[in-house]
Parts: sequence; structure tokens; C-alpha cells
Amino acid sequence: MSQREVRVRFAPSPTGPLHIGGVRTALFNYLFAKKHGGKFILRIEDTDSTRFVPGAEAYINESLKWLGLTLDEGVAEGGPFGPYKQSERKAIYKQYAQQLIDSGWAYYAFDTPEQLDALRAQHEAEKSTFAYDISTRNSLNNSLSLSDEETKARLLSGESYVIRFKMPENVDVTARDLVRGEVTFNTNTLDDKVLYKSADQLPTYHLANIVDDRLMEISHVIRGEEWLPSLPLHVMLYRAFGWESEMPQFAHLPLILKPSGKGKLSKRDGDKDGFPVFPLQYVSPEGEVASGYRESGYFPEAVNNLLALLGWNSGTEQEIFSLDELVNIFSIERVNKSGARFDPDKAKWFNHQYLVNKSDAELAQLYLPIIREKGFEPSLETVTTITGLVKERVNFVQELWEQSYFFFEAPSDYDDKVVKKRWKGDVPAFIGEVAALLETATIWKAEELKQQVSDLITAKEQNFGGVMNALRLALVGGGFGPDLFTIIELLGKNETVSRLRKAVEVIPAS
Ligand code: GLU
Repeated sequence: MSQREVRVRFAPSPTGPLHIGGVRTALFNYLFAKKHGGKFILRIEDTDSTRFVPGAEAYINESLKWLGLTLDEGVAEGGPFGPYKQSERKAIYKQYAQQLIDSGWAYYAFDTPEQLDALRAQHEAEKSTFAYDISTRNSLNNSLSLSDEETKARLLSGESYVIRFKMPENVDVTARDLVRGEVTFNTNTLDDKVLYKSADQLPTYHLANIVDDRLMEISHVIRGEEWLPSLPLHVMLYRAFGWESEMPQFAHLPLILKPSGKGKLSKRDGDKDGFPVFPLQYVSPEGEVASGYRESGYFPEAVNNLLALLGWNSGTEQEIFSLDELVNIFSIERVNKSGARFDPDKAKWFNHQYLVNKSDAELAQLYLPIIREKGFEPSLETVTTITGLVKERVNFVQELWEQSYFFFEAPSDYDDKVVKKRWKGDVPAFIGEVAALLETATIWKAEELKQQVSDLITAKEQNFGGVMNALRLALVGGGFGPDLFTIIELLGKNETVSRLRKAVEVIPAS
């Protein structure tokens, strides 16, 4: 079995936008497949028509594409094990449900939803929970309690039914999880799950999932921890079909937790706390907008990197990994058992790392459209220089503007706090003197200008820091930005002098 070709699948249900927990599952499947020279497959599990959301499948495809998680087989890609969408495999499942009926591992149940609801309500009133299981099934409306004739007659009459798994009594089953080790359970704790429904001729998740993993020759099932409770049933289904010795190996990934560490990160977290939980912006059929990593300015490489470290560790101090590096060093053994707390600041930190590591020219290309939108047409060369000066100060390309707008337009207002602190005494008048000095400068170079202004400060016994801060206020409108004389050199003589004069004129001295 260990010789088997690695074939893993990402098997989302198109019930809404993919949440980053789902993206992390896709990523780990991708990394595992590539690491072992295997195949990464997308299977759309859309058998629950009541939960189907239009557009969800396209959203999944677009997300994987944006992140560069290339599929080897899938709905659009095709492949030798298709179709890859369960609603297109409808015809396949019935015979497997039938096989379990024939071998005594499953039975027909005719209980109506109303009857089951009544039983649930009755148990609730008695402070117990109703389960369709070994303790109740013989007294319920099914082929175990009815005679063969009665069952046949009901089937022939077209009465609607479901097929339920007949969980055997008191069997200890041990399953191996690659993350958690051995998990042992007793079948008495499990109920008789519905596998197939005659009403829509569709299997439930459990049956379709097992049959497809088998038919698609899946070697490893890598999925979120929320599916761990289904593992016992899945193992029993493999046993019932006689496939247990060849069943896939399982790895259940730890939950991604809220930033507080309390509870699972849900689709509802995120925007209310100022960070996205979806890879791409999502507009629900009702028109509600949820933000996405892509639209928030994250680089796909940064998202892969930050997700890789949610529930996996490299065992080293290194935190920045390209997708190829991740493929090389990824291993299931280093997937953690305990939940991974999502840290929104760390997420931004990852983006910052990728941003500063990009060349100034590459970033300038990304920044240029933003500048143009503001109505300016600088050369790429100028933008490249400016980007290089400020990129350390931002996490996202769209933040470059607030850190460098003053290279393109004069400040229209001045930060009150800085004015109060820096624009007082004889400082404004002295800024006027600096303007006069700069107007006469013949060499417009940062170093040279700095020397001249410093000499003037010394001659007039001004405070160096105070003057520098006031100059900065006059030129950029606040107390931020890169090296002052570099700004001055880039602005040029006319613009610098005019901004200084304007400041002297309009900023009230405090
Ligand atoms: N369709 C399931 C989901 O939505 C797949 C679970 C599995 O990977 O087995 O996550």
C-alpha cells in the first residue's frame, strides 16, 4: 500500500464561499501531492441540493487559481476518473447502496420526516436524545422490523425511503490518523446514518465520499478536523464494502481558531474584526459583501505562506517559504494536533515580508495604476525611486499612496498634533529663511542641501531637530516619510520653495 501512487483530493461542497480553513485544506493537499510526485484532484461534492449556492463552484476554482494551486484532475481539467462533480455521478451510487443492502450492511427505512420529528420531540421532553440506532431501529419503520413482503410491497408502491447503514453491535474499531495516531471507538456509540435517499435519488455525503475516494483511487484523505467524527462511520463503510485493507490513509488537520484562541474561526469572524476570512471578495446572492485576501491587497504567495504555518511547522526558525520550498519540506508528521490561532497582525506581517522582498521596479508597476487614478502621470523611473524609499513602511501596495502622496501633490492640510508641537516660536520665520537659502542653491543634491541648511541652522543658533521636523511638516503635511533631504531633492527647487513659503503663510503659529 505504501507503494501506491499518491492521489489526494480537495472535496469542497459548493455551499458558499470557501473559507480560509478550506483553502488551508486545499493547500496541504497540494503540498502533499507535489511533495510525493502525486496528483492533486478537485472533486465537487454537491449532492446536498438544499445547500447548493450558485457561483460557489466558480469561486472555488478562482481561489485555487489565484493561489497557484494547480489541479491535475478536476471538473474543468478532466482526467481519467471523471466526472469530478458528484451530481454528474448520480448513476454510480445507487448500485453501491444496493450492494450494502444485499450484503446485510444496510436497510430500507420508511419513517417519514414527521414521524422522526415526533420521536425527537418526545425524547426531548423526556430529557434524552433520539438516535436511529441499534437500540431503536427494530421498533421503527424499516426493512428490519417489517416482513420481507411488506418491504417489497412498499418499495413497489413507490413509497419514499432512505437507505441506512446498519451499524454492527459492540465492535471496537481502531483507525489510524496520520496526525493523531490511533483513534479507537465502539460501534455502540454510532447511529445508523442515512446513505441514500429515494426522494432525490441521491447519496448522502458519507456514501458518495467513500465510493468516490475508492473509485478515484485516493491514497490519502487530508481534511479538516471537523470530519474526524465521521471517521468511524467511514472506516465501517470501507469494511462493509470489503475495501478496508485498501482504504486511504487519513490525516485530520487541526482547526483554525479565532484570534482570541477561543473557538473555531468562522465565516462570521473577520470583517467585524477587520480581517478577511475568504480568499476572494464574496458577494452573497442577497448582495452582502465579505472582504477577500485578494481585494485587501494580499499577495497570493503571502497567503499560501501564512496558511501553511497555521497547523504545520517546519521545525526551524524560518517563516518565509515559497510554494516550491513548502513542497520540498512539507510533511504530515509536522502537522500539529492542537488548534492554530489565527493572528491578523501576523497575516499582515507576512504580506509585508513579501512586499519588501519584491524589487522596487516590480512594486512600482503595481503602484502606478493607483497614482494614475489620482490623476498623476509620473515616469516609471520616478515611481520606482519613490517606492523604494517608502516600501518598508507599508504592508500593502495600496498603502503606498498615504506614505508617498506628497511626492505628487502638495499637502492640503497639516497634522494638528505636529503643528502644535513643531510650529512655534521663531521656527516659522526661520523656515522662511531656509526657503530663501534653498532658492539660491545651485546644486540640487540631498547631501549638498543638507550641508547648507545645517550651516544656516548653526549660524542662526537654531535647534536642528526642531527645524527638520518643521520642514517635514511644511513639505509632507505631517511627521512621517523617508529622509527629508531625499524628499527635497526629489521635489525639486520650485516645489520645495513654494511648499515652504505656503506653510509659512498658512500654518498658524502656536
Ligand atoms: N464535502 C466535504 C466538505 O465540504 C468533504 C470532506 C472530506 O474531505 O471528506 O468539506
